[in-house]
Amino acid sequence: MGLEGHLITIEVDVADGIPSFTLLGLPDAALSESRDRVKSAIINSNLEWPHRKVTVALSPAYLPKSGSSFDLAIAMAILFSTGTITVDSHPPTIFIGELGLDGEVRPVRGVLPALLAARARGIERAFIPHVNAAESHLVENLDVIPISSLAQVYGFYTHGLLPDPLVREELTCESAEILDMEDLAGQEGARKALEVAAIGGHHLLLMGPPGTGKTMLAQRFPSILPALTQEESLEVTAIHSVAGKMFLPGSSIPRPFIAPHHSTTAPAMVGGGAHVIRPGACSLAHHGVLFIDEAPEMSPGVLDALRQPLESGEVTITRSIGTISYPANFLLVLAANPCPCGNFAGKGRGCTCSALQVRRYLQKISGPLMDRIDIRIFVDPPSRVEMLQTTMGEKSAIVRARVETARARSAKRFYGLGWQLNSQIPAKALRKDFRAEKPAMNLLHDELERGLLSARGVHKVLRVAWSLCDLRAGSIPTQEDVHEALSLRSSLRAGL
Ligand SMILES: [Zn+2]
Repeated sequence: MGLEGHLITIEVDVADGIPSFTLLGLPDAALSESRDRVKSAIINSNLEWPHRKVTVALSPAYLPKSGSSFDLAIAMAILFSTGTITVDSHPPTIFIGELGLDGEVRPVRGVLPALLAARARGIERAFIPHVNAAESHLVENLDVIPISSLAQVYGFYTHGLLPDPLVREELTCESAEILDMEDLAGQEGARKALEVAAIGGHHLLLMGPPGTGKTMLAQRFPSILPALTQEESLEVTAIHSVAGKMFLPGSSIPRPFIAPHHSTTAPAMVGGGAHVIRPGACSLAHHGVLFIDEAPEMSPGVLDALRQPLESGEVTITRSIGTISYPANFLLVLAANPCPCGNFAGKGRGCTCSALQVRRYLQKISGPLMDRIDIRIFVDPPSRVEMLQTTMGEKSAIVRARVETARARSAKRFYGLGWQLNSQIPAKALRKDFRAEKPAMNLLHDELERGLLSARGVHKVLRVAWSLCDLRAGSIPTQEDVHEALSLRSSLRAGL
């Protein structure tokens, strides 16, 4: 249920009577099919199938059960009850896995949250599909035995044979290629904006014509964010495990980068499904970056669905089978062309759009969503000189080190206050304890009076100014910080 695991107990009764096989407590089709899979798997593993009246019950009955992950446990319960496998004593054990008709144990979703729940409830040993073994590495104090066939479990109980130990390399799934900032020549303004966004946890909007490298910038954003903590790694892996997405290099897990296409539906964005509620793109981006290219092309309902996670850091979905929450605390990067034709660049060369068309286009990103965006910049095409440069940009590791230092400063400042990042400073605190220097505040009030900034805009500029202040290791934002923060919310055309 969401990221929460529950223990299901499987009882088997084998009685004399006309041979039959009844499964109780299984609502959906996948589970009914497990009857046929279990029977074939046992027979094809050369184990004895009881030609008697077999009744299997899964409890508690009130929990909605779905999927094929109970196959192995049902088969084992039958083998224990017929005496095919006998044990004098064994530690509290769980079995997780789908069975193939030939007795193969196949991977299932959600192994990591299942193991965490099992350990919390006193389980000491777990048999899991070999393919899911990588996920189990994050679980300590649990004897995890990865297996690839029902015959291997039989061998373990009857002859004490352990399946071949896993080779470490087998556990490392293909990790996404980590892209480095050094690949980007020039783009100084955009690089600085990303660094500031990383420090304060600010959402941002990148505007620019096609081909200016907005996507390349966004893809490299995770590489300058601090490494995941152990606890964050667990959460990230658990979500990807439930989604059935392997996401596991051996040791360190990179921050996710999720880029849903603009044709993505609302359920795919925030999560959904009829029988099992799966996490959506914004939960897969938890502790990482959610990048939406060509944001104005996305249907307004899908963009608006992001408001809940942006406000609360989680998604709550209610269906007839229950209410489930998934964490969804991500950094949002929106990218947009400056106008419908995409050619508006510099002085507007080649753009054929009217002012009204441009305004309508950009206003597709709704006000409430724009309210969450602290930084918005124009990304200019690299100049001819920059294109010809052979020197590389600064490496991500160097930028990340600065981000970590700056974040440590803000974490110290906010100790005990209930928030960690500059983007999270409440408006009330900005008016009182987290103001900028007097001349800087005067500058902001001028802008406010001249109608260039709204009250909300003043708060956003102040939050960004704090991140700039942390970057230069200052103690309070100065006029220069505020000035620079103002430039990081470039007055986009069209009244955004
Ligand atoms: Zn245009």
